[in-house]
Amino acid sequence: LFAAVEMAPRDPILGLNEQFNADTNPKKVNLGVGVYYDENGKLPLLRCVAEAERQMLEAPKARGYLPIDGIAAYDLAVQGLVFGADSEVVKGKRVATVQALGGTGGLKIGADFLKRLNPSARVLISDPSWENHRALFTNAGFQVGTYAYYDAENRGIKAEAMLADLQEAKAGTVVVLHACCHNPTGYDLTPAQWTQVVEVVKARGLVPFLDMAYQGFGEGIAEDGAVIQQFLAAGLDFFVSTSFSKSFSLYGERVGALSVVCASSEEAGRVLSQLKIVIRTNYSNPPTHGAQVVATVLSTPALRSLWEEELAGMRTRIRAMREALVTELKAAGVEQDLSFVTRQKGMFSYSGLNATQMQRLRGEFGIYGVDSGRICVAALNPGNLKAVAAAMAAVIKG
Ligand code: PMP
Repeated sequence: LFAAVEMAPRDPILGLNEQFNADTNPKKVNLGVGVYYDENGKLPLLRCVAEAERQMLEAPKARGYLPIDGIAAYDLAVQGLVFGADSEVVKGKRVATVQALGGTGGLKIGADFLKRLNPSARVLISDPSWENHRALFTNAGFQVGTYAYYDAENRGIKAEAMLADLQEAKAGTVVVLHACCHNPTGYDLTPAQWTQVVEVVKARGLVPFLDMAYQGFGEGIAEDGAVIQQFLAAGLDFFVSTSFSKSFSLYGERVGALSVVCASSEEAGRVLSQLKIVIRTNYSNPPTHGAQVVATVLSTPALRSLWEEELAGMRTRIRAMREALVTELKAAGVEQDLSFVTRQKGMFSYSGLNATQMQRLRGEFGIYGVDSGRICVAALNPGNLKAVAAAMAAVIKG
């Protein structure tokens, strides 16, 4: 039966992890992963999460099946966070929100629904994008192309070329946009550039799919969600996938959501019924624990402010590491302008290093990043920073 099954290629980033784990260099540093580590290099368990779990343990509940679309209080909390609890769309019940298996699950439910809705549509992702965007939409049956994004020469975004690519796209094309903290480059559009994107999307009749995997890691919860308000103000129908993997440090619990903004509450009801079919025929209904934790934190004022404080702590620490990396690289004799590292947002930095330099970092120094030059700034800490900067300086200087 399986004689003709071919070996699939390894996931490049997970493959890097395996290589890291096998490396015996005691000074090795893993900057390849997309995970936030604290100043001690540990994966944090947020205090708000531990407290919510303690409260849940005090009043243990039986684990029945959840509704297909998940915990109602969770879905509402997601809407509050993404669109604003008092927003017209939420109050008017124009958003269909379902609990999903992480941000990836939200993207896949949306992709499967879109495929049924418009089977011949193309999907455009940024060049480059999170690798799984292409794979996920391709596996959902779409042809996936790219729109211009990263400007290697000027260390930023090719905004004009991006707008031109969107301008050329056929009506109905699905455009996957990173709401904030672009993965892998770290470069986000300015609010003025977003306004232009919204205008083109609207004028061309494109279908926006906003991937929000890092809300709160850039500038703040509201600031990072501002782009959503721009799409709402334009009166567009659109998709938003949410991930709490990073913002709650709940990677393994698979907590996310998909929200679809519709023209009326009646339409949202019909859309929701279709999303439920996608879910029902894939995994029936979602798991309880992670979503219960997030719903408890978001709807309990004291826990919510604790979460906001802890999220701000992660955001501030990442920023401090960006500054420190630039300072250390300068101190190590790197003369070129590296201020772009502090302009980037979120967990990642396109360091500007090429594949050969990244491979030298791995081979000679035990410092693991992606061949594209992407490093996870959220894995830097006072204990590894100097070594990383010295190694980077060595390969930059050649
Ligand atoms: N979108 C982007 C841009 C991401 O970087 C990630 C996580 N690396 C995801 C979606 C998926 O998030 P989750 O782990 O919650 O599925």
